[in-house]
Amino acid sequence: MTQIFDNPANFADEALDGFVAANRGYVARVDGGVVRSTEVPAGQVALVVGGGSGHYPAFAGLVGPGLAAGSACGNMFASPSAGQVYRVAKAANAGGGVLLSYGNYAGDVLHFGQAELRLKAEGIDTRTVLVTDDIASAPIDQIGKRRGIAGDLTVFKIAGAAAEAGLDLDAVEQLARRANYRTRSLGVAFDGCTLPGAGKPLFHVPAGQMSLGLGIHGEPGISEHPLPTASELAELLVSRLLEDKPDDAGHRVVAIVNGLGTVKYDELFLLFGKVEKLLTAAGLTVVEPECGELVTSLDMSGLSLTLLWLDEELERYWAAPADTPAFRKGNLAPRPRRELAGPEDAVAGDEELTTAAAAAMGRLAAAVLAQVRDVVVEHETELGRLDAVAGDGDHGIGMRRGVDAAAAAALDAAAAGASVQRVLMAAGEAWSERAGGTSGALWGSAVLAAGMMLGNKESYRDGDAASAVTAFVNAITTLGKAEPGDKTMVDALLPFRDAFLASSSGGATAAAALAAGAAAARKAAEDTASLRPLKGRARPLAEKSLGHPDPGAVSFGLIAARVSDYFNSELSDYSLLAGSAAGKGAQA
Ligand code: ADP
Ligand code: MG
Repeated sequence: MTQIFDNPANFADEALDGFVAANRGYVARVDGGVVRSTEVPAGQVALVVGGGSGHYPAFAGLVGPGLAAGSACGNMFASPSAGQVYRVAKAANAGGGVLLSYGNYAGDVLHFGQAELRLKAEGIDTRTVLVTDDIASAPIDQIGKRRGIAGDLTVFKIAGAAAEAGLDLDAVEQLARRANYRTRSLGVAFDGCTLPGAGKPLFHVPAGQMSLGLGIHGEPGISEHPLPTASELAELLVSRLLEDKPDDAGHRVVAIVNGLGTVKYDELFLLFGKVEKLLTAAGLTVVEPECGELVTSLDMSGLSLTLLWLDEELERYWAAPADTPAFRKGNLAPRPRRELAGPEDAVAGDEELTTAAAAAMGRLAAAVLAQVRDVVVEHETELGRLDAVAGDGDHGIGMRRGVDAAAAAALDAAAAGASVQRVLMAAGEAWSERAGGTSGALWGSAVLAAGMMLGNKESYRDGDAASAVTAFVNAITTLGKAEPGDKTMVDALLPFRDAFLASSSGGATAAAALAAGAAAARKAAEDTASLRPLKGRARPLAEKSLGHPDPGAVSFGLIAARVSDYFNSELSDYSLLAGSAAGKGAQA
């Protein structure tokens, strides 16, 4: 149980504030997480880590010289939003580029991925290395699908030490990738954990049982076993990890016995002693091991064993000093404190210069988003029903939450005189932050990407609309990675794009191209009824979904049709061509 809080809804935020208050020599609070409070040499690569809160010392506890430069901290067990990741990365960047590294979870991948696109669009060299150490979560031939658990530490440590040594972004990325490739973990759980304010645990392990490979948020494991003795447990963990060892494994390994929350240190040590004997008996040399709480899961009862197979270079960086609130190794000269700009200043460029004509364009963008909101509200119930066929039934409410926030943010920005770029970026950020769910993150990124592409201009040409459509679609396919035929919104999106671009390159106006695209999207959305879902939450119930269209494809078709109608009727006296900033919508 978690007892200490005022309002459980503020738990993660208040815990982070207190963590910063207790560690001011290491970290400073920025909007979305923390960054180092000490000086960082100019040009040093910034390792930015993060994920849901509730896993201390992951992730904020690992910020300091020799390790992370910043951590984006989401709500309890929930990914930080793309905006949070972006702001932390901006504040952490010292001019050497950014390496984003985090455990492979769908929400984190979407939000960190969106932040990466945004950082890159601003010219900040940004890379991503996902941690995929948990051997229970997918077989070895699907290693890229594995989730990240305590192996976060080995990957972050190697990357952070390489950055500290002054290596460039290419080299730091490559080392982090190699560390991840050579790291394996396996966990066991004896009981679940309880979110602050919740009346019961998130999941349970039956009394007297142990669950092998159960994920740190209760994701299904491999098997259940009667409680073993310590020797049996050590044998089980060591043998499973050795069976899964990387191809080029050597004989020197880092071993980490990690407590997940309520297992006492004495018990962890007892197990570690047995693990070490077994590894030595298997011909391995254990190098600078760790035993303690390094990646936890609130008050979960359980532990994990991690092995990192070293090579000479990895060993050097593993052994290098680090100095963070929760992880200290060797000696590092004390660092002077640095003056950090406030959270707002950290995201420079908040000032925007717009002309009256550019602001009129911004109001037009907000008017279009109001249309999008209206059509989602009209179809909210129907979209929820469609998602309930084989998904979790939240597509209507999720789209509603996202688009309400997006339209409101757009209106605020437009009222303040923002450009199309600012209006759409504010809307996209609000959308992914508030919607929750896969579709919200994808829609938010797409709107944001379209906004960045359209920029701050006084008028737009048809070619700009084509570029914006392409950016919109690319954001969704890059982040969601769905293929045509997977039965997702992509199956309506690609026909929309193709029809739009064909029509536009044939000389049609943007409004006419929109009409062609929308017609193609509506039809393609209906046609998804004959497909089986291969991505997203509906996948396990694929058969039930046959005969029903994909909810995300349907909502996209409806939105495309409404935007097209708006451009073709309400804005009929409005031309996207240069010099005509004064359509009806522009005054809305
Ligand atoms: P969640 O699936 O998280 O509950 P929603 O119910 O709001 O989110 O959205 C479901 C829709 O999201 C699906 O119908 C599908 O169109 C879309 N979707 C899911 N995963 C992907 C993906 N990887 N790429 C593109 N679209 C996706
Ligand atoms: Mg859903």
